[in-house]
Amino acid sequence: MNIAPVTAVIMLDELIKNCQKNLPAVNVELIKKAFDFSAVAHENDTRASNEPYFTHPYAVANILATEIPFDDISVSCALLHDIVEDNMEYSIDTIKKNFGEDIALIVDGLTKIQQLFQGADINQAENYRKLLMSVSKDIRVIVVKFADRLHNMRTIDFLNPEKRKRIAKETLEIYAPLAHRFGLGKLKWELEDLAFKELNKQAYEDIKKKISAKRPEREKYIDKFSDPIVQKIKEYGIKFEISGRPKHLYSIYRKMIKRNKPFEEIYDLFAVRIILEADDVNQCYTAFGIINQIFIPVPDRFKDYIAIPKTNNYQSIHTTVVGPDGELVEVQIRTRKMHDIAEKGVAAHWRYKEGNPAIDKTMSSYVSWIREMIESSGTEDVRKNILENFKLNLYSDEIYVFTPNGDLRRLPLKSTPVDFAFDIHSKIGFHCIGAKVNKKIVPLDTLLHSGDQVEIIISKNQHPNRNWLKFVVTHKAKAEVRKWLNKEDDDLAKTGKELWDKKIKKLKLSFTPQDVAKLYLNLKYENTKQFYKAIAQGKINLDEILSTPQPNKEEKKLPQVNAEFENFTQFARSSGGTLVVGGESTNMLFSYSKCCNPIPGDQVVGFITKGEGIKIHRKNCKSMLQLSEKESEKIISVEWPALENSNFIVGLSLKGEDSPGLLSEVAHQVVTFQNTNIKSINIDTKNSKFEGTVTLFVQNLEHLSRVIDRLRKIKGVYTVTRLENYVQ
Ligand code: MN
Repeated sequence: MNIAPVTAVIMLDELIKNCQKNLPAVNVELIKKAFDFSAVAHENDTRASNEPYFTHPYAVANILATEIPFDDISVSCALLHDIVEDNMEYSIDTIKKNFGEDIALIVDGLTKIQQLFQGADINQAENYRKLLMSVSKDIRVIVVKFADRLHNMRTIDFLNPEKRKRIAKETLEIYAPLAHRFGLGKLKWELEDLAFKELNKQAYEDIKKKISAKRPEREKYIDKFSDPIVQKIKEYGIKFEISGRPKHLYSIYRKMIKRNKPFEEIYDLFAVRIILEADDVNQCYTAFGIINQIFIPVPDRFKDYIAIPKTNNYQSIHTTVVGPDGELVEVQIRTRKMHDIAEKGVAAHWRYKEGNPAIDKTMSSYVSWIREMIESSGTEDVRKNILENFKLNLYSDEIYVFTPNGDLRRLPLKSTPVDFAFDIHSKIGFHCIGAKVNKKIVPLDTLLHSGDQVEIIISKNQHPNRNWLKFVVTHKAKAEVRKWLNKEDDDLAKTGKELWDKKIKKLKLSFTPQDVAKLYLNLKYENTKQFYKAIAQGKINLDEILSTPQPNKEEKKLPQVNAEFENFTQFARSSGGTLVVGGESTNMLFSYSKCCNPIPGDQVVGFITKGEGIKIHRKNCKSMLQLSEKESEKIISVEWPALENSNFIVGLSLKGEDSPGLLSEVAHQVVTFQNTNIKSINIDTKNSKFEGTVTLFVQNLEHLSRVIDRLRKIKGVYTVTRLENYVQ
């Protein structure tokens, strides 16, 4: 759908006026060109609201000219941002030819982000990494994306419910925290409230109603509180503005949830903001002094974010005082410029940066932060955690501590000396063995507090250990420790594998991967890496586990048989009936070989012995194979008797985390599955872990593996293995 030419003229005129009013320097020709280009490219497209599609890029451009004022390049990119994505006729090259390298790079970044989101789950760490990558190339990519998302959220009503939910969730989980990190306070609030309304309409409306019901009372109180302050500050000839501070709905809701308190208790706190017109930090402290003369300050509630800005460059003085009638009032004091930065963050900095190297540094801090996030997400394992850590670090409160030289470091709340060490340098982190806080030696998991002076003691021989993961909180420390541990594990496993291979060669044995798997499962390891690691660490005695049972000394060299298994085999054999020899059931004396512990269901053969009757071995038993080479005439074929429905009995060993109802869930899953009969279930719980055995009748191996699959799906069940005690 096209825009009427008359309307287009008015629209362009308004956009240019907005740009000229709010942006530092405006290339009118560029904006006009982007406007026309976009209008033509989108002339056949329509929005879900039935408006011409062009109204969307136009609205996004206007947001960047007024609400998040950035620059003329961003405004042009906003106009062009959906063209390549939506229109097959336009490529990034077309954009480059018409608008140059800079704009093409940003539009390309925006198109890539768009593609990431297409039906895919942005919560996947890899996608998230890609998002950060495109942002790191030019900060304007994310700024235009924010404006795009804001307009989409404002017009979300026209989409179908499923899409609305997804977009709202994405906004709340990804864009709002990112906006916070870029200091875009106002944008973050609006995004959160719009998403909140979409995701929990009832709570949203409820809080909204309650806030407006209390408004008259609140305004009256704020006036009563402000009057004496206004008078006093005026005496100093300071220009300022004082107002009740609006709180946005989602933050109230989050507080209610976090503190588990009703609205009334959360909202009883009054909040006031004083904005000083002059760009003069001293006036902030003067105003702070005046307030403390009039009202009693609450100790420990004073925060000076002017002297020490937050990571997102937020600056303000926060204090809480006891107001009239004993009510607590939160007061924020800041200059107009600080306020601008609090609300518009990166956009405000961009505007102030002209010829100011200090602000240029702040600008690059936004980008370097993103680069750091990307770099520390190198390995697979770390990548899995990037998002989780990232979210944690975005919202967390901060402390500031000092190095022995008096340099200030900002860290998230609950940081420890190890976090501090990694913050200084990875090498310090890797070798830190102890720490001094305020000159006293402390354990490495000590919580640091604002104002602490921290000194790290290092030793060449010290390395990260797994325990550190339990207390470090910074993304960097977590990522580096994980990386190190992984490498350490890999190295150990490699050494272990070498030891193993050497031994196997020496003993002239051969093992298929399945054999190895059987072996480590029996030894209670979960995978080959763990198994080889244990070998390297000397936890496994290879001579012991690899010694081949000698036929005549068979009874002496037995694998360890545990009680659980003993019970099971006895039971299994007794319910298995008489063995079938040569197709007929027999009354011949037989016994079970202890080298391979056959149980009903296993493929078996018999070996005729002197005095002990027929010895039953598994068909693939190693010592059996040796016997058969020498005395093949003594081998006879035996089979387990057919039971009713030709079932056979198996034992399963289950391990996992204990939870209520686990036993009945296990029973339920088995019984409701294809006529599986349980013979017995045993579950032992210890320290919230459980170990259990289930004996049951299955028809065949396929049936068995399906039962195992079912059991593995039960929440809390970590491993399900067949109960056997056979080491080849
Ligand atoms: Mn868009």
